[in-house]
Amino acid sequence: MPQPLPEPEFDELYREIILDHYRNPRHRDPLPNADVVAEGYNPLCGDEVELRLSFANGNIDGVSFGGRGCSISQASGSLLTDAIAGKPLDEVRRVIDMFTDMVKNPDKEPPEELGDLEALQGVAKFPVRVKCATLAWHTLEDGLKQREAGIREVRHEE
Ligand code: ZN
Repeated sequence: MPQPLPEPEFDELYREIILDHYRNPRHRDPLPNADVVAEGYNPLCGDEVELRLSFANGNIDGVSFGGRGCSISQASGSLLTDAIAGKPLDEVRRVIDMFTDMVKNPDKEPPEELGDLEALQGVAKFPVRVKCATLAWHTLEDGLKQREAGIREVRHEE
């Protein structure tokens, strides 16, 4: 097993948001009738995530998150579920783009609608940790693509 990478330094407020989501991940209840099951793995840090998604009327109807790994990867997955639950797919794709852009640009002001996700911008200064933050998001992106292709299960490697 790879060892978790050292933690970047975050502002106190952001640290609290990240630790809160790490310790109390949201949308943890499994979704037995998921339309898509997307697993993601980040070999650099040993992070694993699993997203289960169900869809209705062009919206994310249900989402569940599970996984293990460093606090950034797990907090990012939990924050993701809050950000996409019940949202139309167009909006979800936009949030994916905004988020992945934010964690690569330490000096750019994040869009306000990212809300608490802004807490993860700190990883932008630690390029080796960006994959921890983007793992759940790229796994989601792959999951949405596979759904269009009619494939239920997908595995993403970061
Ligand atoms: Zn990690």
